[in-house]
Amino acid sequence: MLFTGRNDKGLMVTRADTPKHDVEVRAWPDDERWAKFVRQQVRGGLPELEALIGLPWSKDRTLEITETVSPYLYGYAGWYQSENNTIEIGDELDGEVVLHEISHIWFNDELFTDRWINEGFAQTYSNLALDEIGGKAKRPERVKQAAKGAQPLNQWGDPSFRDDEIARLEEEFGYNAAWFVVRTLTNEIGTDKMREVFHAASDGTYSYLGDLEPETVAGTANWKRMLDLVENVGGSTKATALFRDLVVTDSQRRDLQARTRARKSYDKLVDAGDGWSVPASIREDMTRWRFSNVTDDIAVARDILAVRSDIESVLDGTGIGLPESFETDYEGDGDLTELLGDARHYHEVAEQLAEAAGAADDGHGLFGSIGLWRNDYREDLDAAGDAFEDGKIDRAERGAVAVLATVDDAGGVGQRRVLTTFGIVVGLVLAIWLLRRWRRARRRKRAARAEAAAEARAAALAEELAQAVTVPYLATPTFESEPGGEPLL
Ligand SMILES: [Zn+2]
Repeated sequence: MLFTGRNDKGLMVTRADTPKHDVEVRAWPDDERWAKFVRQQVRGGLPELEALIGLPWSKDRTLEITETVSPYLYGYAGWYQSENNTIEIGDELDGEVVLHEISHIWFNDELFTDRWINEGFAQTYSNLALDEIGGKAKRPERVKQAAKGAQPLNQWGDPSFRDDEIARLEEEFGYNAAWFVVRTLTNEIGTDKMREVFHAASDGTYSYLGDLEPETVAGTANWKRMLDLVENVGGSTKATALFRDLVVTDSQRRDLQARTRARKSYDKLVDAGDGWSVPASIREDMTRWRFSNVTDDIAVARDILAVRSDIESVLDGTGIGLPESFETDYEGDGDLTELLGDARHYHEVAEQLAEAAGAADDGHGLFGSIGLWRNDYREDLDAAGDAFEDGKIDRAERGAVAVLATVDDAGGVGQRRVLTTFGIVVGLVLAIWLLRRWRRARRRKRAARAEAAAEARAAALAEELAQAVTVPYLATPTFESEPGGEPLL
């Protein structure tokens, strides 16, 4: 550690508070010019930075900005120490330096793990804020990849504090290239979109979101998340090429290629989903760059979607929809292979339902119609369809099988009904005929009996008459008397 002859006790302390921020400026006693300049930068630039970045000012402690030559001794204009919320800068009046260090309140290893991302944002946003407060904003130089000190930004390590030429050149290249990459992306998507990127990085939300509540991943965002977020949230189309050219190492370039392939399959899966968002497990693997898992899972998801299409065409015209839980199961983080098994079962049952619906709608023939007369097979079919949509697949299956059996048996039932009815009719006719025959026979018997009786009566009369003839003609007449006593003649 170098001894820098600091005497912080003798510093002149003034406040540069804004309505929302507590800031203490600690200048050398004879350098009021510096103190005043820094206060101006803070009061103008700090609220601008906060508005541009959009993340809350999370420090409840006072920010201290101290004038010191310490950073100069290591080749830096200033630095920010997040552990004690302190900025140390040299005595030059450089607005970009003041705002760069202030911006590290947000752009530090709590937001992004990679140094180049935080330095690139610090440079880009300090110059944006400087421009807002009327300062002279600067821009990065053209990046020369063949220059001494050039290296992929992901290889740019922490400050080495080595006092050699190559370390200096690497730092110079790193700051400039980081600034170039981040500034290009910020200009491309704009600060509004970049604010959304910061929020997603800060909240740890998946880089690939579905229809569900945004899921989160643990850990601070790294260059992979940065690339994903700038593209998926920010809508950048330049990022992959920039990363390929200036950010990744050779081995990481292969990751980028795997990512590009995975994203193509992912986009196709989004299209095939036709309104169904990508399963959470795939979105998580995409977010974590586990592309070999993604390839397999996307294949299974595509199979599920193909079965969904089959089910939809099987059910077309039946008025029966997909099981309502199917979409949420697909979009959630359940096991996809298991869901594919479920989907295939849905398909089988859908075929039975469609068969039952078709059989119910077909012409049933005379006997079939008679067999189905006053049968509630249509209600049963509706109930089976409802059960299917409610995800009660087994009940739907039993219902479909029962309706099919009812319709299939209808002809036989009808025949039996007809035969039974015919039997009853024949029986009735026969009974009526027998009754009539019996009545006729009875009438005939009666007539015969009456004839016989008449004959007997006639015979008796004849005999009586014969006897009467033998009675002497003059018999004493007898008279019957009526109550009046008058004789009857
Ligand atoms: Zn910095």
